[in-house]
Amino acid sequence: MKESMENIKNAYLKEEFNISEDVICFVDAVEAAIKTRLAELDEKAEYHQYKVIKAMQRANLSDRHFHPATGYGYDDVGREVVETIYADIFGAEDALVRPHISSGTHAISLCLYGVLRPGDELLSITGSPYDTLRTVIGIEDADVGNGTLKDFGVNYNQIELTEDGKIDEEKVLSSIHENTKMIYMQRSTGYSWRKALKISDMAEIITKVKAAKPDVVVFVDNCYGEFLDYKEPVAVGADLMAGSLIKNPGGGLAPTGGYVAGKEKYVYMAACRLAAPGVAKETGATLDINRTLLQGLFQAPTVVAQAIKTAVLMAAVYDKLGFGVCPGVEDYRSDIIQSIKLCTPEAVKVFCRAVQEAAPVDSFVTPEPWDMPGYNCPIIMAAGAFIQGSSIELSADAPMREPYIAYFQGGLTHYHGKLGLLLTLQRLKEAGIIEKLQED
Ligand SMILES: *Cc1c(COP(=O)(O)O)cnc(C)c1O
Repeated sequence: MKESMENIKNAYLKEEFNISEDVICFVDAVEAAIKTRLAELDEKAEYHQYKVIKAMQRANLSDRHFHPATGYGYDDVGREVVETIYADIFGAEDALVRPHISSGTHAISLCLYGVLRPGDELLSITGSPYDTLRTVIGIEDADVGNGTLKDFGVNYNQIELTEDGKIDEEKVLSSIHENTKMIYMQRSTGYSWRKALKISDMAEIITKVKAAKPDVVVFVDNCYGEFLDYKEPVAVGADLMAGSLIKNPGGGLAPTGGYVAGKEKYVYMAACRLAAPGVAKETGATLDINRTLLQGLFQAPTVVAQAIKTAVLMAAVYDKLGFGVCPGVEDYRSDIIQSIKLCTPEAVKVFCRAVQEAAPVDSFVTPEPWDMPGYNCPIIMAAGAFIQGSSIELSADAPMREPYIAYFQGGLTHYHGKLGLLLTLQRLKEAGIIEKLQED
């Protein structure tokens, strides 16, 4: 019985997607070999599911919260309950969760502009921040003049990670001085070759920087990290964190938005930046988005688990084929990103185009590298998503620069992720980039 189902599925993949038998068998064999590893991931998702349900129950979530609010949005109970639930799940005093926050970059910017003042120093302790944030900070001179932090007299310094991708504790502690107002950490890898920061590592460094300077504000760019660990950064001492709703916490359903969560005082400051000082969290009609945001949040633990399973399978397959992968199959994961060192511009393009080919939306489109706003080199991006640019949906992107790494993430279902994986192998094989698929 099992065998005949498998035959039907494989025949379908062959006939409808032109994927060859050896590619299918190779991926199936690798998947069977890492079955235990994949099962572990479900346990974390199960825990998070219970946590989400409990938070919704504690907030007395009810049908009345799903009614649309208009105008100023005073007493928008739907918006308020969304923020209460987010704060509860994240272990934060307060949260700002809004469709008016247009991206992760916007959410992070609210925290930076909300808290930092002229003369303050922002100290990144995880090396260079994500590309778009470099623009916000004003690291590149070309951006200065448009209201970057630098224009407002906020100074910036960064401490590189150590060779093995860890925080350089000694250097961090010796770099903190009187004007160091904010410590900046990026949890996820971004466009770099490193593992995401573990929550336990964050907890350790937070204790130390707070001991060195008790009033320093610790901020975490939490993009792609939600629901990966049992706790989020603000539950282990970070003052503030931010992320995007079209990544993990939106569960693939949130059509737009971002969040900020942490200490009440700092969330308030970020809200003052989003609206205006004094207005803060009190306005911002959410129209009829709240049910969708909550339904997405409800599904997020499962969706995130699907994405991680795909990432782990991807790592196992490409590792076996001799490519560099980060993180490895058995590595602890603190974000949903799978990086694969493909080494040539050609391979990166073939890979991203194959991911696009697997998409339910825009599968007929051929991705080309382009100059995306906020990035300083062309980026090729595969994103055949229901929600534009959503990277909790199956997606891959690569900056067109050495050493030609493809960053692969998402997949609302593991089956879709697997189809993407199969197509990448098939196309790389056809292009002569992968020679033969070995099975042991
Ligand atoms: C996605 C991402 C951002 C920015 O998010 P956008 O929504 O694309 O603006 C910032 N930091 C990291 C680590 C990210 O992955």
